[in-house]
Amino acid sequence: MSSQAWVAKAAKQPLVLEPIELGPLGAEEVEVAVDHCGLCHSDLSVLKDEWGNAQYPAVLGHEVSGRITALGPSAKGLSVGQRVGVGWDSGSCMHCRQCMSGQHHLCPQVQPTILGHRGGFATHVRAHWAWTIPLPSQLTFAEAGPLLCGGVTVFAPLALYARPTDRVGVIGIGGLGHMAVKFAAAYGCHVTAFTSSESKFGEAREFGANDVVSNRDSASVRRLAGSLDLLLCTANAKLDWDAMIGTLAPNGRLHVVGAVLEPIPVAAFSLILQQRSVSGSPSGSPAMIAKMLDFASRHGVLPQTEHYPMSAINEALDRLASGKARYRIVLDADFR
Ligand SMILES: [Zn+2]
Ligand SMILES: [Zn+2]
Repeated sequence: MSSQAWVAKAAKQPLVLEPIELGPLGAEEVEVAVDHCGLCHSDLSVLKDEWGNAQYPAVLGHEVSGRITALGPSAKGLSVGQRVGVGWDSGSCMHCRQCMSGQHHLCPQVQPTILGHRGGFATHVRAHWAWTIPLPSQLTFAEAGPLLCGGVTVFAPLALYARPTDRVGVIGIGGLGHMAVKFAAAYGCHVTAFTSSESKFGEAREFGANDVVSNRDSASVRRLAGSLDLLLCTANAKLDWDAMIGTLAPNGRLHVVGAVLEPIPVAAFSLILQQRSVSGSPSGSPAMIAKMLDFASRHGVLPQTEHYPMSAINEALDRLASGKARYRIVLDADFR
């Protein structure tokens, strides 16, 4: 069967539909027929080459849900027809210290799905068997996509650093942030949502936030001084970092998952005296993705989505770039 994909021929160009030749399937590779694919802000960053590491022609899309259509002879633990997802990464070396300790996402040779590899805005996507994650039966293809990149990106720091008794802040209520609020609330945390958009206050509460604060309202931010155990930053804009770090309780942590391109200034004393820390993380390991999918299906944590047919992909990219998407865009494969 021939494959097709929406191809970015160069930076900042509209995507064009083209036949693609995937070549022979690798021994440890899995081929997945794409049913849905979420549209993540990182797709837009690679399309614009904001990080300087894009390779064209590029096939973007890294929140894939679909069924397995073919397995390489050495692919393990999966079967043809199985419901699976593929996220930000689609391969790693499988023998380095990180891979051998279950932290495959930190492998020096980790293969991002859309950098030098063909992603999911296509009829088919390929991934290493270890990075092809089975979907729990309660999760539909349409709902699962955004969990595979955005979902695990915000779930992993909660699983690593938060306790249900903690007070957690989430900065930025967008594609990532709204899922962070839902996960933290389902986990039992007291959740404070920070958004610059007053129109999102009501929805942030519906997602599970106990309090909602405007990050432009310095007085309200300062009233939270010393109160948050974990502050998860999903925004990619400049903030009043000093005030934000000031909201952390003793031993509190500012954790960054939004790709803020400008440096974050941190005063040593604001960390030292309260024993605070600043950290970051990318996506998550295959085991973390599986754990997140299990938690999401058990607690009904689902992204709030807008659907577009994949044939309207350029319109969907414009919608994402406008910042108006509420809250995650999912593309429904409609190839013929
Ligand atoms: Zn992503
Ligand atoms: Zn490795």
